[in-house]
Amino acid sequence: MRTSAFRLTFLAVLAVLGAAAPARAALSVVTTTEDLAAIVREVGGDKVTVTALAKGYQDPHFVEPKPSFILAVSRANLLVVVGRELEVGWLPTLITSSRNARIQPGAPGYLDASLNVRILEIPTGQITRAMGDVHPQGNPHYWLDPANGRRIAEAVRDRLAQLAPADRATFESRYQDFDRRLAAAEKRWDAAMAPYKGTKIVTYHRSWPNFMDRFGLAVMGYVEPKPGIPPSPSHTVELIGDMKAQGVKLIVVEPYFDKKTPQAIAAQVGGLVLELMPSVGGDRSITDYIELFDYDIDLLTASLRKATGR
Ligand SMILES: [Zn+2]
Repeated sequence: MRTSAFRLTFLAVLAVLGAAAPARAALSVVTTTEDLAAIVREVGGDKVTVTALAKGYQDPHFVEPKPSFILAVSRANLLVVVGRELEVGWLPTLITSSRNARIQPGAPGYLDASLNVRILEIPTGQITRAMGDVHPQGNPHYWLDPANGRRIAEAVRDRLAQLAPADRATFESRYQDFDRRLAAAEKRWDAAMAPYKGTKIVTYHRSWPNFMDRFGLAVMGYVEPKPGIPPSPSHTVELIGDMKAQGVKLIVVEPYFDKKTPQAIAAQVGGLVLELMPSVGGDRSITDYIELFDYDIDLLTASLRKATGR
């Protein structure tokens, strides 16, 4: 029902604006998230126009598709997706409805950014519904490791060069510049995080394995009993017991989850709740990929200082 209403609205929008997009010099790139958009901007510069579909403060698993999304996808030369089933609930219909042959999976205008990055938590054995919302192709929150950000930028560079060969040198030099700035920032982040190596923390959802692995923290538990399943009293009691036993004080929560249970847990263990941003745009001050880590590492080190006394 919703899909057909959605299509009708889309057709109405097309009728108003005219289906034929004007020819543009710049490549029109659509990304599913603001993180991917930020990386495409780094590499593409003024040779691309970039539109992100999901906002950085939204839960990327659950995005309400808007008619404007189809319009953007229908005109795109390149669609960049996180993949690993992160967008499985909302993207496939959008791609089909766009009727844009350039960006269908398998076409040169479709880029799955997960294909040359380091993916964690690839499940072994059989996956059942009882395991919760487990991603069968591994954890899709991989952009939260700067080494993966660099790998995404490489893939974007190569694909943009394929689609606009005349601008290949621009994409290469912009990639090199991003790589240099990212490497300098990584030294800064590593130094800030060094005193807390091995500290155990709890996170709400499994959004942070790449981030915590990269910066040396150990995630000992989750507020969600299973991925995508809201907190349950029995799991919360168990988690409080484990946190007390292991002296774990810090609970990291994504901006789109309710803070009530994390706060109750923190009160029980004498700990604290910290909201970190999983994406560019999660806070208005986070306008690019490097700023995302600057923002999170600043907040994280301040909380770790309080929690550990180091
Ligand atoms: Zn997830």
